[in-house]
Amino acid sequence: MEFDLIERIRRRTDTQRDDVRTGIGDDAAIVAVPAGRELAVAIDTLVEGVHFPVGTSPEDIGWKALAVNLSDLAAMGATPAWALLALSTPDGSPAFFDGLADGFAQLAGSYRLALIGGDTTRGPLTVTVAVHGFTSPGEALLRSGARVGDIVMVTGTLGDAAAGLRCLGEPDVAPYAALIERLNRPVPRVSAGQALRGIATACIDISDGLVADLGHICAASGVGATIDAPMLPRSSALFSHFDDAVALDFALSGGDDYELCFTVPADRAATMTADLARVGCGVTRIGRIVEGQGVRVLDAAGNVLSPSHTGWNHFAS
Ligand code: ADP
Ligand code: MG
Repeated sequence: MEFDLIERIRRRTDTQRDDVRTGIGDDAAIVAVPAGRELAVAIDTLVEGVHFPVGTSPEDIGWKALAVNLSDLAAMGATPAWALLALSTPDGSPAFFDGLADGFAQLAGSYRLALIGGDTTRGPLTVTVAVHGFTSPGEALLRSGARVGDIVMVTGTLGDAAAGLRCLGEPDVAPYAALIERLNRPVPRVSAGQALRGIATACIDISDGLVADLGHICAASGVGATIDAPMLPRSSALFSHFDDAVALDFALSGGDDYELCFTVPADRAATMTADLARVGCGVTRIGRIVEGQGVRVLDAAGNVLSPSHTGWNHFAS
């Protein structure tokens, strides 16, 4: 790809950091990890038509490609530092590159994250970002630490992004702007993840849906979980456009929320809630860790709900 286009990205994502010895422009970047710290490294690819709808703006694509990666660092409690960007695109226009770089930079700037390299090729539209963050030895939030008796918590609200995706097909999308914003501009819970270090016993970010992702904590920890469906935090935007049953489906199974789901011993709940409030993050208790395996969802009466192609229902009799 033309050097020109890479240079456009470099100029628009120019964050200065002392620990970047050599950034974009050489054969490899050279960076310095602070003494005594460890690297948390994650990578995620977004494919057009799979991870974002055809027609998504270059700015939103740039933002989201970084956001989903920062969400992985958030779920580890790591502090973001650097990123690599590998781009395959059929569109070699300056406008596309500028838009993508601007969306990326809008989010990177909040974390003083430096883009230190990448790769650019012509091909179907896919965007891969790799991020690097710092953790101290033994401090990262793993999926494997949940214990029977812990409570299960989530940050923010669930289901908006899946609802936003559903609304994109509407002839007039203006009334759904808040939901579509959650789909296109997810805000990773970086400071919440850092505040949970030393407090949460296990943590994951919700990319595939609450039940699926909490299931990963259960599998890694060798425990089960029970969720109380009426407790699931859902936004007023979600309830104003969808009925209860659909809002529940989105909250349980919808992807792309990028909230954190974590477990914590019950006697630490108050401290944890105060810590998260300090970083501006709301949190809701949604269930508990139990013996066994897998995730059970209970309705208000304590009956088990089960997933089907029509959504989460009571077992058919
Ligand atoms: P090479 O052939 O050595 O891989 P490239 O032409 O691919 O060199 O890249 C030149 C420089 O630009 C490298 O430092 C590379 O990391 C950087 N770079 C290429 N594409 C991107 C991109 N999309 N985002 C950020 N940096 C990039
Ligand atoms: Mg290259």
